[in-house]
Amino acid sequence: MNNIIFLIIDSARYDNFINAETSNIKKLGAVQKRYSYASWTSPSHYVYLMGLMPHRNPARIFASEVYKKELGLWTQRIGTELTFKNFVPELSLPKVLKILGYKTIAKVSLPVLNKFTGFSAFFDDYKLMDHHNDFSGMVDEITFDGSRPCFYFLNVGEAHYPYVLPGEDPVVYPKMHGLHGVFKHMDDLMNATEEDPTQADKPPAFFNRSMLKRFKKKQIECIEYIDGVMGKLLDKCPSNTYVIVTADHGELFGERGFFGHGPIMHEKVFEVPFVEGPLK
Ligand SMILES: [Zn+2]
Repeated sequence: MNNIIFLIIDSARYDNFINAETSNIKKLGAVQKRYSYASWTSPSHYVYLMGLMPHRNPARIFASEVYKKELGLWTQRIGTELTFKNFVPELSLPKVLKILGYKTIAKVSLPVLNKFTGFSAFFDDYKLMDHHNDFSGMVDEITFDGSRPCFYFLNVGEAHYPYVLPGEDPVVYPKMHGLHGVFKHMDDLMNATEEDPTQADKPPAFFNRSMLKRFKKKQIECIEYIDGVMGKLLDKCPSNTYVIVTADHGELFGERGFFGHGPIMHEKVFEVPFVEGPLK
């Protein structure tokens, strides 16, 4: 059975991926334009852990046919037959792989995916990295022991706002919370009053055009950095390794007045790159 590396580049928008130099990832296969089932991190990762990949937005076909075709590809990815009945009732890819004998390991970068959430179910080892931009540290921790195949589910955060690479200073960017951070600070926000607004975060002013342009360019640089680290990871993978690279959603950089992802209905927030193939 093949080792499986499933890499999710958080927030990597499709056209930014295309404009980035990604020679290591492209060695795996052609870059496809796909569509995420969701516009933000949690629901999108949930879908991936059910074994579904971002879709092609096909017309004149029933959803069940699309799911059948997509799930059927796991036989090729794993390199052996698998029983799809094992997906029920949990509908969990790591559970099915565990039954097959895989060691299941997740390393994630976004706190909304931390190990106390339901995402960690059926993983032998599940870790939220100390820093959101430590793909390199993640790769250092990855090992293959040869006695059984490994499934590595990796969420990397370098291409997520504030698009900061290791060693760079994030303080130049306004602090913005994801959902996890909003929960963390919500009691203070609710207790803030007009008389005592000190506990409330002041929302930052919306970005101007030149900042948005800089952010878009910076995300491309971050994707290129991730590709470099991916080269290091591919070098240490055994030859029987199958690799999937995608994103959980895209990112908006001012189009129609939107920034980021989440509560946004815009096609660029659903467009994601998708590459898969055996190690070459
Ligand atoms: Zn995300």
